[in-house]
Amino acid sequence: MGQVWTNPLAALPWLGIPSSLVVSGLPFFVIILARYFLVAGGSWWLLYARSGRLGEGIRYDIRLSVLSAGVFALATAGGLTLEGFGLTRLYSQPQQYGWWYLAFSYLAVLLLQDGFFYATHRLFHHRALYGWFHQGHHRSRQPTPWTSFAFDPLEAVVQAVFLVAVVVLLPLHRGTLLAVLSTMTVWAMVNHLGLDHLPLRFPHHWLGHWVIGPAHHSVHHRRHQMHYGLYFTFWDRLFGTEDPAYTERLHQGALPPSPPSDRAVGKPRRDRNVQTGSDRE
Ligand SMILES: [Zn+2]
Ligand SMILES: [Zn+2]
Repeated sequence: MGQVWTNPLAALPWLGIPSSLVVSGLPFFVIILARYFLVAGGSWWLLYARSGRLGEGIRYDIRLSVLSAGVFALATAGGLTLEGFGLTRLYSQPQQYGWWYLAFSYLAVLLLQDGFFYATHRLFHHRALYGWFHQGHHRSRQPTPWTSFAFDPLEAVVQAVFLVAVVVLLPLHRGTLLAVLSTMTVWAMVNHLGLDHLPLRFPHHWLGHWVIGPAHHSVHHRRHQMHYGLYFTFWDRLFGTEDPAYTERLHQGALPPSPPSDRAVGKPRRDRNVQTGSDRE
């Protein structure tokens, strides 16, 4: 893995990735990375820049996100190749499946993605997989917007393959796909905002009980055995992985504070949980 950090392209031959895919993926790599710096960097600049600094934890998150951007760019190029062979179900005319289908398919993909993310995320916290698939995302104990795209390359592959499978299996308008990808980007960024950097009442809206936001996801970064979902809270409720006190604390405004030892933004995590993802706090 050390060589991948210094020169990610060195990994391509033994991964069997064709150079044509790399070339056609390059523009997407630039676009995905620009989107990351715009959304994550922009929100960090707005909410953190006065009190934080680009510490080692944030620099690590950014390096990991660059690798994730590479994986998603290759997946995009792969999806376009499949489209060239007529193997995707993307379409361009909004009326082809009816206007109602645009909203229906958007919600359906979010629900499917949420279920897939919950299942794989929970799996990645198994001690046999954690170090390979998910440790990087939890390196920063106190997440920041920079953490929103910080996936280990193998986890990024799993999430990217899901999106490719969606466009192969489900009829999806190109605009709907773009809306899903934008929702994913912005939602992930919001989930990783620090509670102490938000307006006091931000997470306490009427939808707060049903949707995942920074209050919900920050619990996962503190206690790895809870709150695995991405968009909606019902998977965690269904499978008993939501903190029983969460809803009550949300309504009371008694949300967990940032860990005092990690107040310095982006300070890397150095505790025992790193190896297994287990909850020992
Ligand atoms: Zn996790
Ligand atoms: Zn996270």
